[in-house]
Amino acid sequence: MKKLVVLGAGESGIGVAKLAAKKGWQVLVSDKGTISKENKEVLINIGVKFEEDKHSETEILQADSVVKSPGIPDHIPLIKSLKQKGIEVISEIEFAARYTNAKLIGITGSNGKTTTASLCYHILKNANYNVALVGNIGKSFAGSIAEKEHEYYVIELSSFQLDGMFKTRLHVAILMNITEDHLDRYEYKFQNYINSKFRIIQNQTEEDAFVFCSDDEVITKELLTNESKAVQFPFSLTKPQKKGAEIISNHININVHQTVLTMSIQNLALQGKHNIYNSMASGITGRILDIRKEVIRDSLTDFQSLEHRLEHVVTVSGIDYINDSKATNINSTWFALETMQSSIVWIVGGVDKGNDYSTLLPIVKQKVKTIICLGLDNEKIKEAFGDVVDTIIESKSMSEAVAYAYQSASKGESVLLSPACASFDLFDNYEDRGRQFKESVRSL
Ligand code: ADP
Repeated sequence: MKKLVVLGAGESGIGVAKLAAKKGWQVLVSDKGTISKENKEVLINIGVKFEEDKHSETEILQADSVVKSPGIPDHIPLIKSLKQKGIEVISEIEFAARYTNAKLIGITGSNGKTTTASLCYHILKNANYNVALVGNIGKSFAGSIAEKEHEYYVIELSSFQLDGMFKTRLHVAILMNITEDHLDRYEYKFQNYINSKFRIIQNQTEEDAFVFCSDDEVITKELLTNESKAVQFPFSLTKPQKKGAEIISNHININVHQTVLTMSIQNLALQGKHNIYNSMASGITGRILDIRKEVIRDSLTDFQSLEHRLEHVVTVSGIDYINDSKATNINSTWFALETMQSSIVWIVGGVDKGNDYSTLLPIVKQKVKTIICLGLDNEKIKEAFGDVVDTIIESKSMSEAVAYAYQSASKGESVLLSPACASFDLFDNYEDRGRQFKESVRSL
């Protein structure tokens, strides 16, 4: 019996354990932290051995194959030893893909992954395709195959998942954008992160499709040397695209299979420039998969927006409160500020991942009236925007931040939580931050 070690007992690790047990592997799940009671029960029920609060190195080094959770960095000694011994270390996605012949649609990018993956899924569902939505979005791909195989999988892919992918071939690969993020995991070299994102096309053939944003200079530059074999479908807000998607007089044209799908950008369920990109990428994908234009148009019109992503919470005394807690880097916050039509009271801050705020200066100068810092250390924000915004207030809790925002904003203005930072200084995660915002706003 071949031995598989699964490092990390989270959603993806448990999914792998389920699939591997079914496929006849001898499995050990090993977690350096504690394993939740619920997950332990699952492992006991399927008869999979596990250990917690440690990694038993001698046993792990006897594995034929190792599946590593995306949260575990490559540079830790255990992973190094495995690689030195020539034992393959792969991601859950790579493992799962070996056990399905389904058509795979993979989506990556620094921003817009979850939104675009959800839009693609919505289109395929509306077309009555047998599809599941998996990956970084929170549901395990392997677990889904173990439960019930689908004909199509829409897979949200983080760069960490891509790093553990070697042979997986994606029928449609979507690359939204590349901006600096997670550099701490890439030796602070942007090129390493770019290479990681480009793994999405690595096994594509002439029969596959590569959908990408041609307004993104990092992507277009990399494509000069990192050629894709797949049929290319670029999308752009500024350039005409014979194949792919373009904007002509406020209409999106999606050009695939020599026919054009046209729809007004006003009819898109998700507004804002970034969402035009997301809608274009998913519309192109729908057409590549031969879905009727009408179904795509309807799906892009009736999509329900996602929690914590420019989510309109409530209007109090003529002031709109918007939760964009998922914006954890500069680029996503830029798009949020860009989308706003009114003067903004902006709640920003948290754990800075090496942010360069200078790209936000022009838009902040133009639209932001007051900044409310929400973080343990706000010095960098105060320094960056001190000269362009009249009022900068510091707060140390969400209720305090919202109370200041309420006092600062006037009728017709918006209060926007778009932190541009991670949340771990004051919150459990971005969801916790977003929920606390909504609670505080609703009790105003
Ligand atoms: P991801 O899954 O890549 O983190 P999401 O779809 O969850 O992306 O969106 C995260 C944040 O990024 C949103 O709050 C939104 O403001 C911003 N965003 C969404 N789509 C894009 C895009 N195509 N380009 C830039 N920013 C985007």
